[in-house]
Amino acid sequence: MKYVIVSGGVISGIGKGVLASSTGMLLKTQGFRVTSIKIDPYMNIDAGTMSPLEHGECFVLNDGGETDLDLGNYERYLGVTLTRDHNITTGKMYSHVISRERKGDYLGKTVQVVPHLTDAIQDWIERVARVPVDNSGLEPEVCIIELGGTVGDIESAPFVEALRQFQFRVGRDNFSLIHVSLVPVIHGEQKTKPTQAAIKDLRSLGLNPDMIACRCSEKLDDPTINKIAMFCHVGPEQVVNVHDVNSTYHVPLLLLEQKMIEYLCRRLKLDEIALNAEDK
Ligand code: ADP
Repeated sequence: MKYVIVSGGVISGIGKGVLASSTGMLLKTQGFRVTSIKIDPYMNIDAGTMSPLEHGECFVLNDGGETDLDLGNYERYLGVTLTRDHNITTGKMYSHVISRERKGDYLGKTVQVVPHLTDAIQDWIERVARVPVDNSGLEPEVCIIELGGTVGDIESAPFVEALRQFQFRVGRDNFSLIHVSLVPVIHGEQKTKPTQAAIKDLRSLGLNPDMIACRCSEKLDDPTINKIAMFCHVGPEQVVNVHDVNSTYHVPLLLLEQKMIEYLCRRLKLDEIALNAEDK
């Protein structure tokens, strides 16, 4: 199983969901079976009890799971049917660990965020990623995981730590991270400092971006791309330009033009999956 994590920095509502679904859609067009998991670091067990005025409408899955609207994007972009378990919340994870504690699963142990909660998050991801979600009934090959909120928030800390550990659990060839950041345009100038700070925060938590997707009101200039690459310690081909478009359905094309999928395929050795499938 190959995992593509989509996280975000600087501000929330930056387009992580759209970027994650677009990436998944492009991988699907390459012939891979793609699934997705959305992590929402709030204490509610699900989105069903939240005000639509505050959170937006909730999306109801086939199994009755009341989730974030992003799950609807995934179902449409990827042509899959997800379950309530594909939406992980802080509330759900704590409730899972606490009920195991009551059953005596950790007898004798002091139950802690690290390692018990972080292990439970990783086990949950590995279990749910394998659930067949399309008509083929086969196990997916790629799992897109969107981490809601902003890296550096108190709320998302256990998930960030779980993902930090997860990269070693599954191995480098199976784990890649796209960090979505903001490039504001101030007095006509594209500003890279918020992105530099966001990547510094991410690295300080033990996660290194394979790609930096920059949301900007306009197309990124070459000097901006080069500056982000230099200050964020990545190659210019790892800086992806996601400027504002009229319809979010244009985002996959934007990523395609920038050869993002070629990079991901190389990075995750996805060709090996394709070759194995041919051998069978
Ligand atoms: P997040 O998952 O980070 O909260 P979303 O993916 O839900 O963000 O996107 C937030 C809003 O921004 C949505 O209304 C979405 O349609 C819009 N959006 C995302 N990407 C773009 C883009 N490239 N151009 C224009 N609007 C976008």
